[in-house]
Amino acid sequence: MIYWHWLLGFSLFFVVAERLLPARPGQRPLRKQLGNDLFYLLFNGHFYAVLVGGLSGLIALRTRGLLSPVLPFAVDGSALSSMPFWGQFLLYLIVSDFLQWCVHNLLHRVPFLWQFHKLHHSIHEMDWAGNFRFHWMELIIYRSLLYVPLALLGGDGEPLLLAAIFSTFWGQLNHANVRLKLGPLGYLFNGPEMHLWHHDSSAEGGASKNYGIVLSIWDWLFGTAYWPRERAPDRIGYPGDHELPRDLPRQLIFPVLRGREQ
Ligand SMILES: [Zn+2]
Ligand SMILES: [Zn+2]
Repeated sequence: MIYWHWLLGFSLFFVVAERLLPARPGQRPLRKQLGNDLFYLLFNGHFYAVLVGGLSGLIALRTRGLLSPVLPFAVDGSALSSMPFWGQFLLYLIVSDFLQWCVHNLLHRVPFLWQFHKLHHSIHEMDWAGNFRFHWMELIIYRSLLYVPLALLGGDGEPLLLAAIFSTFWGQLNHANVRLKLGPLGYLFNGPEMHLWHHDSSAEGGASKNYGIVLSIWDWLFGTAYWPRERAPDRIGYPGDHELPRDLPRQLIFPVLRGREQ
């Protein structure tokens, strides 16, 4: 099975899970912006991801060649391939999750990058489909900053693919409208409760907390974790999010539009 099949399977799983075990029972399944977010799921999760993934893979291979004199293990990617499958999977998962935590931080802290990340934070009714609501530029930023270090680690393609599939499942879970209490596991794994606070439009949680994707340990370690039990934000979005166009074509070129207006 390829990535796309898993993505489809997970999406169907969360459609059912949200009906059976909703965290916010009053939330409508056919919410506003769902059409746009299903487009982002198709475009970002499949067509465009394949294109950018292929290109960044090529760049990573070239970089590996260029760095091989100083990093001999990178010559043939042999650093990890001697490890067992599950060892490689775990290492890829942990390293890529930390790198994504770093990139997510940058998306919030660098004003230029925040202009692109605003689209993800403009969702007002959170569900599984919101995971893929992000600007096409984000994929370029994530892939270029992720693939090169991962390619330098070497190793096999299958455990890397499985780590990417697992990370996608967890990303959809974080955004899903499902009632899931992680208990003490919340100190290790991120979950829907914590990620909802990352989307809080007030300063209480908001864009400076809970950057994690799969693991929450990075946020606990670096002091950005926020997890008030039994409570949810009053409103999700970001301050001033009415500026973001609701139609798809203008969302795709939003940062350019914004630049022209200023
Ligand atoms: Zn999110
Ligand atoms: Zn964010």
